[in-house]
Amino acid sequence: MKITIEELQAYLYEQYGGWGEETGLFMKLVEEIGEVAEILNKRSRRKAEEGEDLKTELANELADVIHYTVSIAAINDINLNNAIIEKDKKAAIKYNHEKNLEDFITNKNI
Ligand SMILES: [Mg+2]
Repeated sequence: MKITIEELQAYLYEQYGGWGEETGLFMKLVEEIGEVAEILNKRSRRKAEEGEDLKTELANELADVIHYTVSIAAINDINLNNAIIEKDKKAAIKYNHEKNLEDFITNKNI
């Protein structure tokens, strides 16, 4: 099953829209980023690991990061889809990239 940003945002708005508080969601986001850092440290041997499946754990923590990132956008009525495309366009110009996300999606063969 594939999901879109819009679907995820609508789902998370239902979950947090009535009562979600952006500072609390942001604190959860930072916590999850810390969990990603812990796994990356284990993968680069900066921290001991105990036979864990680090790729699965990394996937789970990245999903948590996306969850809270999209939740903050949802409760603030931000069109994250458009924000990502516009921000990428600016970055492509700033960093002199050959193509931007919109070009990539529009012309998948470039
Ligand atoms: Mg987590």
